[in-house]
Formats: sequence, structure tokens, C-alpha cells
Amino acid sequence: MEGIGGVVTGEQLGPPGFEYARFRELMTEEANAAITAAREAGATEFVVADSHGNFQNLLPEKLPADVQLVRGGPRPHGMMEGIDGSFEGVVFVGYHASTTNPAGVRAHSFSSANLADVRLNGTSVTEGAWNAGLAAHYGVPILAVSGDEAAVKEVQTLVKGVAGAVVKWPYGFHSARTLSPEKTRAAIRDAVSRGMARRKEIALYRVAAPIRLEIRFKSYRPAEVLSWLPGVERADAHAVRYTVRDMPEASRFLAFVLNYQADLQP
Ligand SMILES: [Zn+2]
Repeated sequence: MEGIGGVVTGEQLGPPGFEYARFRELMTEEANAAITAAREAGATEFVVADSHGNFQNLLPEKLPADVQLVRGGPRPHGMMEGIDGSFEGVVFVGYHASTTNPAGVRAHSFSSANLADVRLNGTSVTEGAWNAGLAAHYGVPILAVSGDEAAVKEVQTLVKGVAGAVVKWPYGFHSARTLSPEKTRAAIRDAVSRGMARRKEIALYRVAAPIRLEIRFKSYRPAEVLSWLPGVERADAHAVRYTVRDMPEASRFLAFVLNYQADLQP
């Protein structure tokens, strides 16, 4: 949601924000713009994964009748829940830059509160690259990405050939120059059309297995406590290293790290 046109602060990003209700509508319209363009290019089935915050942002009644919506969490495949080998392509809508990028509106990696870096085989990855790696496991390419300029560039650097829709230009963590909602949707439709047209040529973002996963925390204790688990190594004071067989396993490990608390209920 951080990469939706007009989003610049937490006021648009969650239930306490004074503009959240309006931006849920705008977010839904951006998903719809992607669906419209994919449909025009021949797509016939659509699954949308609501993947921000509480995973309950998109307005189900405003999606087309034939769209299925993945809602709620936590879930082992995170933003990519629902993916399998039956998909022809993935579109990322509303993406933000990663925590290691000095530019980018609300730039973070998976958890702005807790993580300072996520690496796959030594390469720092954005959420987009991570999700592209997971899609590649199932043989599915990423067709298009929308977000601010920093987010789109970052994804395109690692995931070659993805069509980009830049909807705003960051001035800082909480500031950007943004397209109007109408032009934002036009930019998304255009990128999805381009991605659909060349979907057979887009290379998969394959992560070589076994995968060395490194997670860097902002705090000290998560790294300490996780390193007590067999197979988890303390990379340094704030980071752990863990080797997984493939991206689904990496995804489950990350979902565990981000969600486990001893007092989980029910
Ligand atoms: Zn995020």
C-alpha cells in the first residue's frame, strides 16, 4: 500500500489514519486497473492477495465479480499466498523500496519496526525480489510493478524485464510528488499491458538453491534467541543466517520469524 499513488505517511496506511478509508478505495482501484489491463490482454482468471498491514485493506465489493481475494494473516507465503504453477503471471501493485534504500516513501523490508536487511545468497532483496523468487519457484514470471520511483527501479534492477509504473517521485521517507489517481491507474494499465505482451520473454528470478537466508534485526534479542534453534547461526550481533532448501521454505521461515510470539491466541 505504501506504493499507491498519493500515499506518503501512516495517515493513509492503517485504521487509525485520518485518510485510511479513502486510500483503501484508491488502493482497490489500482488493483482494478491492473485487472482491467490484464483482462484486455487475454487473462481470464484473477487472484488478488491483499498484502499490507492487517491484510484486510482491499474492498471486496469493489472488485470484479470473477476475482478471488486472499485476505488475512499471518500466512506462510506472505504476500504471495495463493501462488502455484497454474498462474501465467504476477503483477505487483503499490510496492515500496527496501530498508537498505536511502530513497523511497516508507521504505522498509517486511517489517519497518523490526528488520534492517534481508538477504538471499548474500544479495539484499526488496520485498519485490523476494516475492519474484517465490513466484519463480512455481515457474511464474513477474509482469509488472507499480510504486514510487525508488521501488520500481529497485525491483527492475534484480528482476529483469519487469514493466514499471512509476506513480510518484520521493522527496523523502514521508514526502513525494504524485500522479493524480486517474493518471496513476493509466500508468498501471499501461505497464500491465506491456508486461502481458512480452510475458513469454520475461526471465524468472530464480534464487539458486540451497538458499542462504540472512535476516538482520534492528534489535539485538531476536537474533540472540533465534540462534538457539538448531541450524540457525548468529551471523553477528543483530543478524542470523539459516540455510533453506527453496523459496517456499525461506518464506515459511520468514513468516515464522515475523509472527511467532509465545502468547499467540487463539
Ligand atoms: Zn512492506
